Amino acid sequence: MLPVVMVHGGAGHIPKERAELSTIGVKEAARTGYAILQKGGSAMDAVVEAVALMENNPRFNAGRGSVLNVKGEVEMDAMVMDGRNLDSGAVSAVRRIANPVQLARLVMEKTKHLCLTAEGAFKFARSMGVPEVPEESLITDYAKMRWKKNLKPDANPVECQMGKMGTVGAVAVDKDGNIACATSTGGMINKMEGRVGDTPCVGCGGYADNNIGAVSPTGHGEAIMKVTLSRLILFHMEQGKTPEEASDLALTYMKERVDGLGGVVVVDPKGTWAARFSSLQMSWAAAQQGELHYGLYHGEHFVEPVQENI
Ligand code: ASP
Repeated sequence: MLPVVMVHGGAGHIPKERAELSTIGVKEAARTGYAILQKGGSAMDAVVEAVALMENNPRFNAGRGSVLNVKGEVEMDAMVMDGRNLDSGAVSAVRRIANPVQLARLVMEKTKHLCLTAEGAFKFARSMGVPEVPEESLITDYAKMRWKKNLKPDANPVECQMGKMGTVGAVAVDKDGNIACATSTGGMINKMEGRVGDTPCVGCGGYADNNIGAVSPTGHGEAIMKVTLSRLILFHMEQGKTPEEASDLALTYMKERVDGLGGVVVVDPKGTWAARFSSLQMSWAAAQQGELHYGLYHGEHFVEPVQENI
């Protein structure tokens, strides 16, 4: 069953014309992560590379393609976690960086902290030689259009998040049984300046523990934080639930208790995986034993050889 890598491209309401591009993007990311694992790379290498690829893809709400805050600016959150020793690194509200997930990994590896924020995170990036990119290079026409549309005084706050392209995330178990997760996002459309969501918070925007498994979530960050969604799923797995059962229990709890929708990708140490969501859609893909699994709507599960189209 090992190695395995699983990615998501965000939960929500993806417009039809963009849904296919989202599926292509997650499949490509899962293939990339799997190729790293097959060459003997670590779970951490696989999740960071898979997520960085989706950050570079303007179809997703992370890195280039991030949604804009109310001022029309890009502020991004990202995190990684290493299931071997529970080490974690994160950045929040960071600007002018192409790949926040790589910066999160540097926070984990090069500092004694778990999370750096805003200007401090940016200064750290510079000190590590991470190049500054012009903010404009991260902003797509689509993100600008969504921002403008939702600035209107009559914009419905729920509908406002529809059409939002997805946050991205990955979980993996390598051939040595090491487990990792990574998540990266531009956050919620037209969020307040300085708003930080679930993504950089350990136990909310991700969790990885070699003894239990790993989770990367997507969805309404404030709801995810209230129920510490990632750790809640792993708690249920510790009590003997399968990844699928644990995910369904936690997502139902989030819906009923705080009226929040979202989705998750989950693996356990044996390589059993689940992609579950309470939103209308979540693009996801998993690569394992030479096969690529993927889907977008509830009940969808396509399978093809992982090598196809390479
Ligand atoms: N969870 C992300 C946030 O609230 C958004 C998303 O997953 O779509 O920042």
